[in-house]
Amino acid sequence: MAKVTLDEIKTAHRCIEPHVLRTPLVHAETLSEQLGHQVWLKLEQLQPTGSFKFRGATNAVLSLDDQQRARGVITASSGNHGPALARAASRLGVRSVICLSHLVPENKVANVRRQGGEPHIAGHDFDQSLIECRRLMAEQQLGLIHAFDDPRIVAGAGTAGLEIMDQIDEITCVLVPLSGGGLLAGVAAAIKARAPQIRVIGVTMENGASMYQSIQAGAPVNVEEVETIADALGGNIGLHNKWTFEAVRDHVDDCVLVSDEQIRGAIALLFDAQGLVVEGAGAVGVAALMSGGVRCSGRAACLITGRNISTKQFLNVVRAK
Ligand SMILES: *Cc1c(COP(=O)(O)O)cnc(C)c1O
Repeated sequence: MAKVTLDEIKTAHRCIEPHVLRTPLVHAETLSEQLGHQVWLKLEQLQPTGSFKFRGATNAVLSLDDQQRARGVITASSGNHGPALARAASRLGVRSVICLSHLVPENKVANVRRQGGEPHIAGHDFDQSLIECRRLMAEQQLGLIHAFDDPRIVAGAGTAGLEIMDQIDEITCVLVPLSGGGLLAGVAAAIKARAPQIRVIGVTMENGASMYQSIQAGAPVNVEEVETIADALGGNIGLHNKWTFEAVRDHVDDCVLVSDEQIRGAIALLFDAQGLVVEGAGAVGVAALMSGGVRCSGRAACLITGRNISTKQFLNVVRAK
């Protein structure tokens, strides 16, 4: 089984460095006092388009050969990958088509357009938009860039782990929000190659966690998608998963589940204690520490992965506390 290596992540880092933000890793003083844990936050929500996805998207576009660059790229994504790919492509002068279903709200469609991508609306759900994505890809010879199951995406996401290793000594564990597993596969590869004793902990929501269920089952399984405050963590890992399932299975030391209620508490606490606006998927690491379900003595680094939450939803969560 092929896996992304530390060298590939280092190469990705050199390539994307001029284009992405080297995000700060900050000691969260108030949060640490409240949690009784020394907590450091890797602020990936500061990346262009508001999530770490910009790292992988930029690496994928930079990896294209001249012919593919001239033709353009395509993906199906209703979450943070679509705008990230649109921006990475447009900044590098490459055409991008982002397939979205009729379910996707107009503000997300407008955001893809604002980032320089071409939204292509087809189908009544994600699976139908994926079928349309494959059809268009073949018809127009566009390069498919999957949101997570792609070595270019894994290597790009892994650069966040590389930076953590440069930014802090003596961490005990790293908490990584987990959905398709591109981020965890990359971050774990970067960290374990240098310091295998550091615990890499995946955190995901209680309901609709495809990777968690797949690891339990020993093979990729589909789960029903349910509504959650951590909407960016929804979706299946794919029954024909090529890159992330085995990487996550082999590298993850522990996988912690958090409830929507706990995630809401973490969003409110990150704002209250640290003045940060974080979306549900980005707050699950802090939710896991708050829940007491994480075994980690010493310094913990949490990847804060995104900030794309609507004003309305954010205010609801913060007001409820
Ligand atoms: C995509 C995403 C994740 C999960 O990343 P995977 O590589 O799919 O595991 C976590 N947080 C945010 C904000 C995301 O957009």
